[in-house]
Amino acid sequence: MPLIRHHINGQPAGAAERTGTVFNPATGVAQHEVAFATTDETQQAIAAASAALPAWRATSLIKRADVFFRLRHLLVERQDDLAAIITSEHGKVLSDAKGEISRGIENVEFAAGLVHLLKGEHSEQVSRGVDVHSVKQPVGVVGCITPFNFPVMVPLWMTASAIACGNTVVLKPSEKDPSAALFLAALYEEAGLPAGVLNVVQGDKVAVDAILDSPDVRAVSFVGSTPIATSIYARAAANGKRVQALGGAKNHMVVMPDADLDAAADAAVSAAYGSAGERCMAVSVLVAVGDETADALVAKVAERVAGLTIGDGTDAASEMGPLITREHRDKVASYVTGAAAEGATVVVDGTADEFDGDGFFIGVSLIDRVAPGMKVYDDEIFGPVLSVVRVESYTEAVELINASPFANGTAVFTRDGGTARQFEFDIEVGMVGVNVPIPVPIGAFSFGGWRNSLFGDSHIYGPESIHFYTRSKVVTTRWPDHTPSQIDLGFPSNH
Ligand code: NAD
Repeated sequence: MPLIRHHINGQPAGAAERTGTVFNPATGVAQHEVAFATTDETQQAIAAASAALPAWRATSLIKRADVFFRLRHLLVERQDDLAAIITSEHGKVLSDAKGEISRGIENVEFAAGLVHLLKGEHSEQVSRGVDVHSVKQPVGVVGCITPFNFPVMVPLWMTASAIACGNTVVLKPSEKDPSAALFLAALYEEAGLPAGVLNVVQGDKVAVDAILDSPDVRAVSFVGSTPIATSIYARAAANGKRVQALGGAKNHMVVMPDADLDAAADAAVSAAYGSAGERCMAVSVLVAVGDETADALVAKVAERVAGLTIGDGTDAASEMGPLITREHRDKVASYVTGAAAEGATVVVDGTADEFDGDGFFIGVSLIDRVAPGMKVYDDEIFGPVLSVVRVESYTEAVELINASPFANGTAVFTRDGGTARQFEFDIEVGMVGVNVPIPVPIGAFSFGGWRNSLFGDSHIYGPESIHFYTRSKVVTTRWPDHTPSQIDLGFPSNH
């Protein structure tokens, strides 16, 4: 089987002492081996990033911006190749893979504006003859650790801003779909990025720990599940690094009785089952206000899912592909099969669907009368399973959501502007949609959840990423002028 290796200082690298297997989830066939970096190999990547740092941070802003303009062009031009790589290792349908690429391109477009983004501030005459200005300087080598579910978009969330700010990067993509990161690194270099500025190490905890423990890595961006995010945050912070660690999610979509229920059902089906539910902003809980709303919604969602086409992501007819691994598929199935015993009502049982071949497919499930305390409600399932929680009032809906440990995204469906405005005010969640089920902010805003969905104080990409990937320096200046000087041992005052 072909071996997927690391990319260090512009070259393929890695002896592959340890390896993992990369499957095509649609066929279940093992298609590649992937090298798992040793501590030494990861340190080589960090050394390459450190060596590239002085020249890259000294590169003019205009030249840096030029790389992003060219990268944008290349991403658009090669999107079919890149989407095919995503689909063959992740399984999502090609149109979804292209959607991920286009959302990633937003971050490249944002980074191309770096000349504006890196402007400092200046105050003249803060004291007689004294001026103050601030500059934003790169933090140094940045470690980026990414999840399997967006093998292009999430690396672009991080690398575009980090590199634009003058940093160099060691990217550790998911070992489940590692090829897209190498393709991205090649495109960056084709766009003019010097070797060593973006290095890719493949692997697992060994590579991640080497990044977290290296004194040469100054900042860590992580996106993945909450248990790993917690440990990454603690270890990176204990080692004195700046860290942002985005975790898992359980996103609730509230449907008020006055909502357009057909539009809400369409939105719920799209947001729950798109990408087989393997999106951190997927809707996994439908909160129906009032039994009448719930009964109508459940019927409408059930009617719609009956018409979904599940199959190989390369088939243009497929609307939903397989899950990432066989083990994950079986775990998702266990939540559905266990739901009835927990007291919920399984309206559509996706585990009963049959598929040809050995792909990691599962049908979509709809589970009614779910409540907190049931595993199907409490856990992030990360599969095509939509739970319905029935509540009696708007207030109960808000209390339910605010009590969830996850707080990535949420949405309210209503025709009432007052209700929507109050929801925006009351809800304790990082990203909110009003009649928009997946409110992923555009690249000019930052992305991030609250509570167990993000550890650290900076959201990712957008303006907060410029803050995260730079250190501010403030310079106070006095130039000799013609006024006489004198000795003064008092504390310098600006008055
Ligand atoms: P994961 O936490 O298993 O893995 C994420 C990364 O961490 C991978 O690169 C993996 O190799 C590495 N890793 C795994 N175990 C590790 C360990 N013990 N020590 C160090 N590193 C380790 O997540 P995943 O399954 O790849 O991705 C799905 C998860 O990511 C879901 O929970 C999803 O909600 C979350 N996610 C969150 C966001 C967000 O923005 N909040 C976005 C995308 C995905």
